[in-house]
Amino acid sequence: MPVSPREPTDGHGLHRPDGGSGGRGDVLRVAVLGSTGSIGTNTLDVIASSGGRLVPYLLAAHSRIAALLEQAWRLRPRWVVVTDPLAANEIGPGSLPEGTRLATGPEALDDLVADPAIDRVVSAIVGAAGLRSTWAAIGAGKTVALANKETLVMAGPLVMRRAAETGAQIIPVDSEHSAIHQAIQCGRPEEVRRIVLTASGGPFRTTPRELLAAVTPADALRHPTWSMGQKITIDSATMMNKALELIEARWLFGLPADKLAVVVHPQSIVHSLVEFIDGAVIAQLSPPDMRLPIQYALLYPERCPCPARRLDFTETMRLDFEPPDFERFPAVRLGLEAAARGGTAGAVLNAANEEAVRGFLAGELRFTDIAEICERLLDEHPYHEAPTLDDVRRLDAWARQEVGKWACV
Ligand code: NAD
Ligand code: MG
Repeated sequence: MPVSPREPTDGHGLHRPDGGSGGRGDVLRVAVLGSTGSIGTNTLDVIASSGGRLVPYLLAAHSRIAALLEQAWRLRPRWVVVTDPLAANEIGPGSLPEGTRLATGPEALDDLVADPAIDRVVSAIVGAAGLRSTWAAIGAGKTVALANKETLVMAGPLVMRRAAETGAQIIPVDSEHSAIHQAIQCGRPEEVRRIVLTASGGPFRTTPRELLAAVTPADALRHPTWSMGQKITIDSATMMNKALELIEARWLFGLPADKLAVVVHPQSIVHSLVEFIDGAVIAQLSPPDMRLPIQYALLYPERCPCPARRLDFTETMRLDFEPPDFERFPAVRLGLEAAARGGTAGAVLNAANEEAVRGFLAGELRFTDIAEICERLLDEHPYHEAPTLDDVRRLDAWARQEVGKWACV
């Protein structure tokens, strides 16, 4: 029997958080980790539009203190957490509204996400730094709206196992995974032939290969369809974002790598597709606006009016699809390889990429070095099939150090 969206579990391991705290219509207290970022500010927009259904309980950011304080005065959360203790020194007495308390450092955030008052945790810290607080939220059995794809890229099997142990629910925020989460419910797990992640192709979709080495950070930061943080915008330009998303999908949906595919779709309206064994392809469409997948993750399995932009079918609309070019964008191939290999491959790819992107933005590396470095480190690293969290952290540090050597050459 196909699953009805009203049932509490759906046969895909996609748990439905109804009943108890977080049931239909209940007020939900939300912790926003990374509240000053692109996903964070979109989340606050969704919260503000929820008519009191969603309440900001904890806001955490690393360093943009002025922006964080403005959010604190506007939204009056119970907690403000600054993970960079140096930046926290900028918060003097009287800087926060009455009733809002300050905590500093990543350890404080690990403790506070477990607060029983919190119903939903939005994991929107960028990069590997997001793993520890997401891990803490999952350890506390929370429902996590997961934007920080790096958590699953680095430690997918560990995270999914931990969630199964604690009863934590992971609802994706990444638009592709949100689309798959919605479409996959049209059939049983064994009826899924493959999932197809769409990719905008980024700003260099039609750029000849020989010109890619010379692109500048300013060129790469000009994304044609999405407005996002710097790091993911560079990842979209190299298409490493799609590599990370393939690995994220592999663990989130428990599908082998040979059931994962990528198609380039420049309009970013079809957010991904699920193909079933009978040939039916189910997709989710909406304009490129993260507020919809954020709200979906926060309110799942309910649907409510959303502040996100809507499709206008009174206008002519084109939807193009083209195969990815593995020659110009080798990152996509690396993602498929890392998804197939599992083990430590995701953690090494993620750390190498993060550090190479930093080097590219700092003018130390060329655009094309990013994928080249990632490929080299993936090949050379001491692979483990079933790493512990400590192994993951050790290899993350190793990969960063190796990229540092490259940047110095
Ligand atoms: P961003 O750079 O705009 O914001 C990052 C946030 O993380 C900020 O609030 C910052 O204070 C915080 N942060 C940075 N370093 C930190 C650290 N060391 N410790 C604690 N907090 C830290 O990033 P973003 O674009 O919002 O992306 C956030 C996450 O969401 C990423 O994992 C990204 O891949 C994912 N994501 C983003 C989008 C998007 O549209 N922006 C879409 C899908 C997935
Ligand atoms: Mg995405």
